[in-house]
Amino acid sequence: MEGTMIVFDFDKTIIDCDSDNWVIDHFGGTERFDGLLLTFPWNTAMDKIMGEFHEQGKSIEEIKEILIKAPLSPHTISAIKSAYSLGCELRIVSDANIFFIETILKHHGLMNYFSEINTNPSYVDNEGRLRISPYHDFTISSHGCSLGTCPPNMCKGLIIERIKKSMYKEGKQRLIYLGDGKGDYCPLLKLSERDQMMPRRNYPVWDLICSKQNDINAQMYDWADAEGLERVLLRLVNGNSSSVQLISTDATCHAAVPVTSHEALPKVLNVTN
Ligand SMILES: [Mg+2]
Ligand SMILES: [Zn+2]
Repeated sequence: MEGTMIVFDFDKTIIDCDSDNWVIDHFGGTERFDGLLLTFPWNTAMDKIMGEFHEQGKSIEEIKEILIKAPLSPHTISAIKSAYSLGCELRIVSDANIFFIETILKHHGLMNYFSEINTNPSYVDNEGRLRISPYHDFTISSHGCSLGTCPPNMCKGLIIERIKKSMYKEGKQRLIYLGDGKGDYCPLLKLSERDQMMPRRNYPVWDLICSKQNDINAQMYDWADAEGLERVLLRLVNGNSSSVQLISTDATCHAAVPVTSHEALPKVLNVTN
């Protein structure tokens, strides 16, 4: 599967929580963070609350200890390792930050499986405070995406456009994208008929897909949990997608019974608008 590029979102896709909320909640900063969000964009609020935690004496080591406890399923780890060993190139596009992501990936021995991590820069300053800055500096200019579902500091669609250009140059034909959030909707719109999207069922990206406001070209395969992620991803990587049942978004988006993890086959959404 050397012609395949796999791009993962991080929060609620690779790990089964939001890394920002995970750290904030463990330090008891949930209410304070909600307050900051009334005034600041998420990315700026994260930098500010990390500053407040530092003033309260919380150390980088304590932050790391919390991060390595973030839930990461053995199924996800196995999916990443299998896809890599089958020759796929793996990348991450995330609105978390590089310190959080690297700390978690290193802890699980997963750093070397990814050729590129696109996320918000972060570093520990001289005083031992974690600084987090925006991937795109929106104080200077807008990233220019007007879709409305991308935060000011990051348009994942623009990153996917760049990745697609470079992969075609290398002869890669197919991109598989996995994500759950609102920010994962813009990249979906950049995918072609040859590409495959794995939206997490009943998460914000799923709701946006079901709202059918934009034409979608990619084939879509939903997943609900890490076990489903592993099963669906490895079938797609191995080219077994032709054997799966085709269903409409109407049937899927309005299904009364959630898809269970025991289903024999992943489902394909056939978007026909
Ligand atoms: Mg996410
Ligand atoms: Zn965008």
